[in-house]
Amino acid sequence: MNAAGPSGPRILLRRLREVMAGPGDAQARMDQLVTVIAANMVAEVCSIYLLRDGVLELFATEGLKRSAVHQTVLRVGEGLVGQIAQLAKPMALSEARSHPNFAARPETGEEDYHSLMGVPVLRGGRVVGVLVVQNKTNRDYLSDEIEAMQTIAMVLAEMVGGALQEEVPGVGTIGSDGLPMRLAGLALNDGLARGVAVLHEPRIVVEQHVADDVDDEAARLNTAIAELRTQVDGMLQAAIAEPSGESRDILETYRMFAHDKGWMARMHEAVQSGLTAEAAVERVQVENRARMSEIGDAYLRERLHDLEDLSNRLMRHLTNNGGQLSDGDLPDQAVVVAWNMGPAELLDYDVNRIKALVLEEGSPTSHVAIVARALQIPVIGRLDQLLEVVDSGDDLVVDGDNGQLFVRPGADALEAFGANLELRQAKAAQYAALRDQPAVSKDGTRIHLNLNAGLLADLPHLDETGADGIGLYRTELHFMVRATLPTVSMQTEFYSRVLDQAGDRPVVFRTLDVGGDKMLPYLTRYDDEQNPAMGWRAIRLSLDRPVLLRMQIRALLKAAEGRPLAIMFPMIAEVSEFVAARALLDREVERQSRMGEEGPSSLRVGTMLEVPSLAWQLSALLPLVDFISIGSNDLMQFLFASDRGNPRLANRYDELSPSALSIVRDIVQNCAAAAVPVSLCGEAAGRPVDAMALIGLGLRSISMGAASIGPVKMMVKSLDLPALQEFMTNIYESPEHSLRDALTQFAENHDVAI
Ligand code: PEP
Ligand code: MG
Repeated sequence: MNAAGPSGPRILLRRLREVMAGPGDAQARMDQLVTVIAANMVAEVCSIYLLRDGVLELFATEGLKRSAVHQTVLRVGEGLVGQIAQLAKPMALSEARSHPNFAARPETGEEDYHSLMGVPVLRGGRVVGVLVVQNKTNRDYLSDEIEAMQTIAMVLAEMVGGALQEEVPGVGTIGSDGLPMRLAGLALNDGLARGVAVLHEPRIVVEQHVADDVDDEAARLNTAIAELRTQVDGMLQAAIAEPSGESRDILETYRMFAHDKGWMARMHEAVQSGLTAEAAVERVQVENRARMSEIGDAYLRERLHDLEDLSNRLMRHLTNNGGQLSDGDLPDQAVVVAWNMGPAELLDYDVNRIKALVLEEGSPTSHVAIVARALQIPVIGRLDQLLEVVDSGDDLVVDGDNGQLFVRPGADALEAFGANLELRQAKAAQYAALRDQPAVSKDGTRIHLNLNAGLLADLPHLDETGADGIGLYRTELHFMVRATLPTVSMQTEFYSRVLDQAGDRPVVFRTLDVGGDKMLPYLTRYDDEQNPAMGWRAIRLSLDRPVLLRMQIRALLKAAEGRPLAIMFPMIAEVSEFVAARALLDREVERQSRMGEEGPSSLRVGTMLEVPSLAWQLSALLPLVDFISIGSNDLMQFLFASDRGNPRLANRYDELSPSALSIVRDIVQNCAAAAVPVSLCGEAAGRPVDAMALIGLGLRSISMGAASIGPVKMMVKSLDLPALQEFMTNIYESPEHSLRDALTQFAENHDVAI
């Protein structure tokens, strides 16, 4: 709205409202609107496409052929208009025809127009249409102009939801209401659940966008912000009083955002342009979402999700929709449906009633997925159109194992669900019965099954599963859910709680594995890394920033206080790195004794073996370490030069390939010869067939997620180890891509429960 001066936006908004409130039916008013918008945007064409029963239909146009109105239709995803609807993002092109998704519609007579700008029309977070302008010249639309169009689209959405929906049935819908549907997404945490859909953000639909009085709206916004701040402070107070430390850390980030000057300024600016307070919050939220989808950095994306949550809370204050869903409103079997959410939001619910979580966004490394895993809640992410097709109260079946969501399931889906659930429950009962029995194979070999953990919420799984101890404690998760670096005393308190809860069971703490894509906000980032997994991370970062590592070691030594302590370093690639890290640790041990503090009763120091180069320095390494833990996730990613997070490569290389098994066998044999204890803590340890092979090649200790302890223990108890060892004797020389089939066949032939 650059040309019209400071009062320009307000004048336009008023004009639009006059048209919308004016005489005539909805069609007549829309015809008028496109004329007003085209004139204001200095465009030759302005068109409104609205979703009607699932397709985008041209509803009104200034500049294109009138005969195309209600005739031209596009599927969501088809052509540029379809793409704008699908991505729910604005698009501005100075030459639309050269875009690969351009789809010509000759009946509209648009061949004379070159530039195009379109924005989605969103109502309550759903796309209901697309608003487009076109020009004959190759115009470069300015960001101010795109923002102005987004504001106009918000006002248009108000009309679509109101008068138009009454006059034109089916408008604004995707036409699936009430029918069973299956959506496929990405499995983020396995498990099976059925429950009632609870929309995490009950759709807040802004009913009035144009302000009657700008000063009143500014005052309303200020009041709501003050209420929000009080609410966040209250949540923080409650979290401090509560034993689990995670929510407190997360909420500190929230408090920081609730006082963020940039965010406040952007919302106030939107009010000054003539929007109501809630429309201003929505407006800035839409901008944030667009920014979010462009950010590659996982950590920053997570922070923007926190901001999204705060925007929603603010909106609820403005629409008197209460602060949040009260537990009384939450059904006992709830499936939470969200676009995305931060970990604090999940912890805000009574988690005992949450049976599953389904997200339109989400990634395996997102914090909410990590927390949900610790709480054993099945999660599916990346479910396209989730919020379009699911309504509050819908019956949902969540198949977290296969990443499938059944919305309003039909009889066949329910029957399959029932059968699967029974099977799972029967298995769970079998695993529970094994809880107090040690994992001993049929021939009497004791295998140590440990837990991988990283959050306080993981610790109850020690008792629930009967695990022998914690084989890998990923300390970075505690750092990642916080806004600021935890102090030594905060860390001490945290580690001490971990040790308290573990009791007599050993815990192996791994020092910070941050950097790369697990960047902390309070750590300066220097370059854009092309390959973050192979970049400045883990021990590399710790050795370059020794204060961070020393603070952590100081806290660990203090927390142990008369108890045994085991520490290991991540991503050690050569012996000299271990020596340097160990020297830092020794300085802290000396410092502790100089200060007269009580240290650990015993101290074991080891390393992860997850960079292949270290496997060829074992003779120099083994005399220096107390133990080794093989990190097969990274070891295989580097061995095969195959990104562990890339789904296209997920099945290309197998951890049960001859080369993968050979490298692990060689490491294990070298450790055995040097009498150095060795374990493996990658994902492979948690899959029964893989775990069987690892035991067959010599491992006697493995560490895995809580859900795997039962199935792996059952496998061990049914295993005849000498028979497996004999079967595996010459297997390493095989030219096969993978030995998975052969090992599975062995298990079947020998009644091993896999
Ligand atoms: C591994 O690399 O196998 C491992 C256990 O560490 P992380 O998964 O935390 O990288
Ligand atoms: Mg690793």
